[in-house]
Amino acid sequence: MVDSAPRTALVTGSNRGIGRAISSALASRGLRVLTAARTRARAEEAADAVGGLPEVLDLDDPEALEARARDIQRTRGPVDVLVNNAAILPDGYGLHASLSDLTDALRVNLTAPFALMRVFAPGMEERGYGRIVNMSSGWGAFSEGVNGPLAYAISKASLNALTLAVSSGLGAGVKVNAVCPGWVRTDMGGAGATRSPQEGADTPVWLATLPEDGPSGGFFRDRQPIPW
Ligand code: NAP
Repeated sequence: MVDSAPRTALVTGSNRGIGRAISSALASRGLRVLTAARTRARAEEAADAVGGLPEVLDLDDPEALEARARDIQRTRGPVDVLVNNAAILPDGYGLHASLSDLTDALRVNLTAPFALMRVFAPGMEERGYGRIVNMSSGWGAFSEGVNGPLAYAISKASLNALTLAVSSGLGAGVKVNAVCPGWVRTDMGGAGATRSPQEGADTPVWLATLPEDGPSGGFFRDRQPIPW
């Protein structure tokens, strides 16, 4: 790749909330942003809004997702930055969570990010450059008690584990980090949350654009490492 060519970023769930703010911030920094959403209409609306390119990615079927992601790689070219942002939040606590809450959350919040990493990380390794940002949550932190709604909290603790497990096996130029965006005013966070989507996007965008000497295999909030 020519040094001056823009990096390409793919952001899941870019049609609203923090994903929209991340997409917009990356586009304004000159990246070519693939705005992934689960329907064509949502992906196109996001692409128009941020100046990106639309891609349909439904995280509900990880096997179909892998095939779709390989298509994107063929048609759009290499993905340098992957932001695993999209997630669901089933609301049952403890043993009040249903079996389907847990399997749904693990499929969308854990297996789908893993599928996308499996597709895009090898090319990043070959090219010696990659940034993977896994949107986690303080509710997934053992250090904070894994104390959110059960299926969501387990899925985010698992995403943290995936981040750490994958990071050490990748080449030096590929950085994989997890991030808690704080409590953010979105459909998921609710109107009473303390941060705007732009504030929630700050640390993910920082991780998506880390310099070569930036960290890998960490968990961050407000650009600072936090305990797992
Ligand atoms: P949000 O407003 O609820 O947006 C969720 C996004 O995920 C939407 O774009 C949604 O698409 C997408 N999505 C859900 N299921 C999908 C599927 N099967 N396939 C494709 N896309 C799917 O959430 P948010 O607050 O922006 O959260 C973004 C990330 O930050 C999540 O990982 C969340 O866990 C994390 N986080 C948020 C907070 C907070 O306070 N908000 C705190 C900690 C962590 P549709 O529009 O099609 O449903």
